[in-house]
Amino acid sequence: MQEKNHSVVVIDDEESMRDSCRMILEKDGFLTETAEDGKKGLEKVKEMNPDIALVDLKMPGIGGLDVIEKIKEISPDTVPIVITGYATVESAVEAMKKGAYDFLPKPFTPEQLRVIIKRGLEKIKLFREAESLRKEKKLIEENFITMVSHQLRSPLVAIAQYFEVMLSGYVGEMSKEHKDMLSKARNRVESLLELINDWLDAARIDKGQLVEKFKPVSLHNILKKQIEFLQPIAEKNKINLEIEPPTGKSTIRGDKETLEQAFANLLNNAVKYNKPNGSVTISFREKDDCIITDIKDTGVGIDKKHIPQLFNQFFRVNRSEGKQGKGSGLGLSISKKIIDAHSGRIDVSSTLGKGSTFSVTLPKHKKATD
Ligand code: ADP
Repeated sequence: MQEKNHSVVVIDDEESMRDSCRMILEKDGFLTETAEDGKKGLEKVKEMNPDIALVDLKMPGIGGLDVIEKIKEISPDTVPIVITGYATVESAVEAMKKGAYDFLPKPFTPEQLRVIIKRGLEKIKLFREAESLRKEKKLIEENFITMVSHQLRSPLVAIAQYFEVMLSGYVGEMSKEHKDMLSKARNRVESLLELINDWLDAARIDKGQLVEKFKPVSLHNILKKQIEFLQPIAEKNKINLEIEPPTGKSTIRGDKETLEQAFANLLNNAVKYNKPNGSVTISFREKDDCIITDIKDTGVGIDKKHIPQLFNQFFRVNRSEGKQGKGSGLGLSISKKIIDAHSGRIDVSSTLGKGSTFSVTLPKHKKATD
């Protein structure tokens, strides 16, 4: 096997072991370096970022287990493989826990060494392929987001604006039939725009990027603000919105903007799927190290059979009683994605015809200052 581009560092205090490994590996075309102890070995690993590090478990100075742990820190792509004359199940398990990929008991034949190295290289190959697929997927997603927002969203916004101008009578009078048709067309375009906006929101939520923006935020403040926004719609639909202030602090670590969006979706639903003269009540409770926000409504409720699909993208309950309302079926999936990114969860309890409670559990901020 000619693997010219692959490199191996052999870290072993036994000279004969280092020499024989070097001979076998160089013969197979590997760039090979050796080190007689952990300290020197780690320096070589740092210098070379080798594909594979063969590490003896029992060495004077830094022991093999610590060497493996450090390799993971200084060269995360290097695959550490343990070589040892004292192979026991315990030591193997311990080494695997520290990040070793495989185990080679001494004495071993050249063929056994080749097999182990080959397995390590396969792991590297799979890892690199997965990595490049991940990158490619990200690129496609980003391109798609740009494409959707520019090529689809922008013309739709323009169309909606033209409809608006025509419907307001600026370009001349229209017959009632014309107006009806035009306003139906405008409603359809607006629904499509809402769907695209929701979809763009969903596509943009990236856990890694969100976590970087985390700051202490007050859940009470977030929900108070959302209630203010929603009040006019609630009043129009004769729905009473109430918030019970938390007894303690309601500070968590999170991204304010996306959390507002997550709670806005839940509150919107609590109003949208409510009944006239119904109510929405928000309250807070504490459990272990978490704050639970309960959003309780006295609305139409959800059939038990639909609960497992509720957070799936585009899922909408088919409601025959005319309570379907407008929507993209993306709101709950977006809320879940956001709450998941905050290491939280959403639970639902509901009784058909009576109402639902959506409970959002989020880990409390340790140094709360709310
Ligand atoms: P949308 O509201 O756009 O349909 P969501 O993802 O927000 O999409 O919700 C999915 C479905 O869950 C809705 O179609 C609705 O039937 C149901 N649902 C969500 N929240 C409630 C609620 N508070 N009460 C009753 N049904 C709800």
